[in-house]
Amino acid sequence: MKQLATPDIWFVCGSQHLYGPGPLEEVKANAQEVAKALDGSSSIPLPVRFKALLTTPEEISRTCLAANSDPNCAGLILWMHTFSPAKMWIGGLSSLKKPFCHLHTQFNRELPWATIDMDFMNLHQAAHGDREAGFLHSRLRLGRKIVVGHWSDPEVHERLGVWARAAHAWHDLQGAKFARFGDNMRYVAVTEGDKVAAELRFGFSVSGYGVGDLVAKVDSVPERAIDELIVEYEKRYEVARELRRRGERHESLRYGARLELGLRAFLETGGFKGFTTTFEDLHGLRQLPGLAVQRLMADGYGFGAEGDWKTAALLRALKVMGQGLPGGTSFMEDYTYHLSPQGHQVLGSHMLELDPSIAAAKPTLELHPLGIGGKEDPVRLVFNARTGPAINVSLIDLGNRFRLILNEVEAVAHPELPRLPVARAVWECKPDFKTACAAWLYAGGAHHTGYSYDLKAEHLADFAEIAGVELVVIDQDTRLRSFKNELRLNDLYYALAQGLRG
Ligand code: MN
Repeated sequence: MKQLATPDIWFVCGSQHLYGPGPLEEVKANAQEVAKALDGSSSIPLPVRFKALLTTPEEISRTCLAANSDPNCAGLILWMHTFSPAKMWIGGLSSLKKPFCHLHTQFNRELPWATIDMDFMNLHQAAHGDREAGFLHSRLRLGRKIVVGHWSDPEVHERLGVWARAAHAWHDLQGAKFARFGDNMRYVAVTEGDKVAAELRFGFSVSGYGVGDLVAKVDSVPERAIDELIVEYEKRYEVARELRRRGERHESLRYGARLELGLRAFLETGGFKGFTTTFEDLHGLRQLPGLAVQRLMADGYGFGAEGDWKTAALLRALKVMGQGLPGGTSFMEDYTYHLSPQGHQVLGSHMLELDPSIAAAKPTLELHPLGIGGKEDPVRLVFNARTGPAINVSLIDLGNRFRLILNEVEAVAHPELPRLPVARAVWECKPDFKTACAAWLYAGGAHHTGYSYDLKAEHLADFAEIAGVELVVIDQDTRLRSFKNELRLNDLYYALAQGLRG
């Protein structure tokens, strides 16, 4: 993936001097063993480094400040193997800016019933040591994830892995830059938002660029680079006969390749992690970028159509969270419905821009007219998305805060669509179409989403906790009456919790 670092997770164990040097050595050795096991887990995608055994307020503060200032630290896993009086942690945790996860585990899995003595009791104190820590975390109103279970338990690794993915996405967004070509699609509300608030809350910045800046890059692409890219297209996709070399529309594919190379060069030169386009501002471009956007998304760039910078940033975060997983993640739009009495479905698509990482089979590369935009016919990849469980996620700006809305869906097989020359996905919503759509509308969810087969609600819950933003989940358990109440209560909670700083 482009522009992606692989930061560390710090493993930190808390204790105190009461136990004397001998037991503290043992505590440290145990903690190192736990960290090593987590580091070696295939479920946890980031390196886990044992950082310190902390026994004094000064050490704790130093470690928290060091975590803040280390650009390679994505977050901390905290564990109180023994009892660590939590007033020692007030200073450090009050200054900690990095995400943390509280691992509530115990070194020994089973109690040695026949041999257990007070030495064992003195060492294995997480049952109450972590309660002391949990109290302080709650007392400080700190957002964190709590994972409970033995450190060898695969489910514990899985849940830590989900959190590490969220922490990785958060790390990636800090200082991330997004380029916006043109402004918002005229009169559209939900794609607007407060870019200053977004930077304060999420750490990324969005800057506008005249499409002329992009045109300059596109026009300067050498023909040789286009030749090479055409070869790659032919290898990776079923290229329509008319677009192939010597085909009558080959020139259109060459221009599509030129657009991709120009856009790619612009993003790489500027160090951007995502971008937006708008079909209302394409001055100097001959086609709306379709193929180019699709392929850049597949390489990990965030994207939002029609100036939708919130979805571009969200998509980048989803892609980082899903890094290395096999399912794929794409920009998406709820486009059209199938309201059959036999079952209601959503056809998700966009004018052109779905990410081929979600394709069920080799995409075809085709050329067709586009009804809007007033430009030449744009080249695009056409495919059906794969079937299976997926999520749809939207990020909206409610004025005083951001809200994430997530719907669990099931992508399904569907009839052929011989006259629809765009990439598409068809899914069924949980708990059912009518409840899901009503809940989505009550929550104010957008028509643009990030759509992923790799992620589940827990990833977004962890991400939302780190970001301190609201997440509402529409899943198998959603009932409208309680969902509406949840929205009302959240209105109050976030107004009070964020106060004037929202
Ligand atoms: Mn759209």
